[in-house]
Amino acid sequence: MITAAASRIRERHTWLSQLDCTAGDGDHGSTMLRTMSRLEKVFTADASADFKDTFSEAGWSVMRADGGASSSLLGAFFLGIGEATAAGISSWTCDDLAAALQAGLAAVQVQTKARPGDKTLMDALVPAVETLTEASRMGGDVGQALTESARAAKLGADATKGMTARFGRARLLGERTRGSEDPGAASIALIFDGFAHGISESKGDADNA
Ligand code: ADP
Ligand code: MG
Repeated sequence: MITAAASRIRERHTWLSQLDCTAGDGDHGSTMLRTMSRLEKVFTADASADFKDTFSEAGWSVMRADGGASSSLLGAFFLGIGEATAAGISSWTCDDLAAALQAGLAAVQVQTKARPGDKTLMDALVPAVETLTEASRMGGDVGQALTESARAAKLGADATKGMTARFGRARLLGERTRGSEDPGAASIALIFDGFAHGISESKGDADNA
């Protein structure tokens, strides 16, 4: 899932920086490249590692990437997952994944008061996590749940085009950000798209093994 998310970001990093040229300081694509490289490094170092340690290490690594607002929010997301995960766990059901992502979202919500409608990454992250939780509650498997979640994140990111930024650097530009997608929301949509494809590819591998 992390590897597929990283390749989505690598494919679109120039576009992400272009969006941030309209809404901020133009660095979002390069920040996300650094973030995803750090995540990949932590998650591939020992794929069988304890989830608690791995997510906590991932969170600190992203926090230390020195990439402004998006790094501290994404770092908080992974740290929140690490904190909420019991020690000694190295696999999750769909419900566990939903609970982990809820904990990550709650940790981000400690860092920012931004809500959907404020034109930030929350416009993609909140519906992604809520949709995954709902799909899991309805008995969906992790592949279906992540596909629905990725769709919700994309719809949320698309909707930011019609919004005026109320948080972060983009807030200073206010109305001038209208018409352009929020870069952080665009990244979250790419990451969840990667998650959905990553899980179906790894499931395909397992089925063929
Ligand atoms: P910076 O704004 O520090 O240069 P990035 O360019 O990497 O950081 O990320 C910008 C994105 O971060 C924005 O598009 C927005 O989605 C998100 N963001 C910035 N500030 C906030 C905030 N206070 N709350 C929620 N999201 C934010
Ligand atoms: Mg920026």
